[in-house]
Amino acid sequence: MQPFRITPATSAHGPASSGARQIAGGTNLVDLMRLGVERPAALVDLDKLPAPSLRGITRLPDGTFRIGALTRMAEALADPALCAALPMVAQSLALAASPQIRNMASLGGNLLQRTRCPYFRDVSWPCNKRERGSGCAAMEGITRHHAILGTSGSCIAAYPGDFAQAALALDARIEITGKGGLRRMNLARLHRLPGGTPDAETALDADETITAIYLPAPGWARRSLFLKRRERAAYSFALVSVACALDMAGDRVREVRLALGGVATIPWRAVPAERLLAGERLTEECAHAAGVAAFADAVLRPDNAFKRDLGVAMIVRALIAARDLDITEARP
Ligand SMILES: Cc1cc2nc3c(=O)[nH]c(=O)nc-3n(C[C@H](O)[C@H](O)[C@H](O)COP(=O)(O)OP(=O)(O)OC[C@H]3O[C@@H](n4cnc5c(N)ncnc54)[C@H](O)[C@@H]3O)c2cc1C
Ligand code: SF4
Repeated sequence: MQPFRITPATSAHGPASSGARQIAGGTNLVDLMRLGVERPAALVDLDKLPAPSLRGITRLPDGTFRIGALTRMAEALADPALCAALPMVAQSLALAASPQIRNMASLGGNLLQRTRCPYFRDVSWPCNKRERGSGCAAMEGITRHHAILGTSGSCIAAYPGDFAQAALALDARIEITGKGGLRRMNLARLHRLPGGTPDAETALDADETITAIYLPAPGWARRSLFLKRRERAAYSFALVSVACALDMAGDRVREVRLALGGVATIPWRAVPAERLLAGERLTEECAHAAGVAAFADAVLRPDNAFKRDLGVAMIVRALIAARDLDITEARP
C-alpha cells in the first residue's frame, strides 16, 4: 500500500486538499488501497468527527427515519422500530457481508462502495472506471457478475451493494454537506450511469460528505421484503437481488416499489414493472409480465444472460411473497 497521511475530520464536509479521501469504516476504501486501486495521499477520518447528527437513528414526526451517515450497518439492524417498519431494509442489511463487517461498515460508505468487477480490482487490467479512456477488460472477459441493465460501451460493472436498493424503493433522500452548505437529494440521483465516463460514479462534489439518509416509512411498507441470490449462502455479493414493497387495496395493487441489485450498473428502480402492476390484481401471470417488463432493455452476454431469467423469477417470487404477507405479523 502506498504511504498516506490520516487526519481526523474537522468539519462535516469533504477533504480540503486534492488527493485526499474521506474514510468511514474503511471496509471498502482500505481494501482498494491494499490492491493499489485507490492511492490517496491523505485520508480524512470522518469517524473522529464529534458530530452526533452523523450517528444514530431518529424518527421524525412524519414517521421518516433519519439515519446519520456514520451509523453502522449493525446499529441499524439493532433498531427494533426501523426493522419492524421497514422489513426490506432490515433484510437487505442482514443479508449483506458478515457480522464483523457490519460492525465496522457505515451506511454512508455502503451507499458509496465501489464495484466488485474483478478487472477494476486488478490494476494489471485496463479499466475505464479506474482510468478514463484506458479500455475495459470485461468486454472480452468473464462477465458472470456483470450488469445487464444500464450498461454502456465503456463499462458493464454491476453496483454491488444491497442497502441502496431497499432505500431506493422507499424514495429515500440523502443529506449532503459541502463547503457551500447543506443540500438534500433524492437517492435516485446519487449514482450515475456509466455512459462514456464510468469513473464519474456519483453526483457528489469533491468537497461533499453524505451526512444523513432519510427513509420514509409509510404504514404499507411493512408489506415489504428483500430477496438475494448469490453464489454462497453467506458472505457474498448478489447475483440478483429484489427489494419489493406493496401497497394493496384488497387483492389489487395500489402502489408497488421494486428495485433490483446485482443486475445493473447503479441501484435500479424497475419503473416499467411498477407501472404495469399499478391497479392490477396481483396474480402470478401479472407478476411474470412485470418481471419481463423490468428486463425489457437488458443487454445480455453469454456469461450473464442467466441473470434475466433469474431476475424475472425473483421478481415473481418477491411480489407473491409480499402479497401474501400478513403485515400485522410482519417482522424481519
Ligand atoms: C468481504 C466483504 C463482503 C461484503 N459483502 C457485502 C454485501 O453482501 N452487501 C453489501 O451491501 N455490502 C457488502 N460489503 C461491502 C460493505 O458493506 C462496505 O464495504 C461498507 O458498507 C462500506 O462502508 P465503510 O464505512 O466501511 O466505507 P469506507 O470504506 O470507509 O468508504 C467507502 C467509500 O465511501 C466514501 N465515504 C464513506 N463515507 C462517506 C460519507 N459519509 N460521505 C462521502 N463519502 C463517504 C469513502 O471515501 C470511500 O470512497 C462487503 C464487504 C466485504 C469486505
Ligand atoms: S466493466 Fe467497468 S469496472 Fe469493469 S473493467 Fe470494464 S470499465 Fe472497468
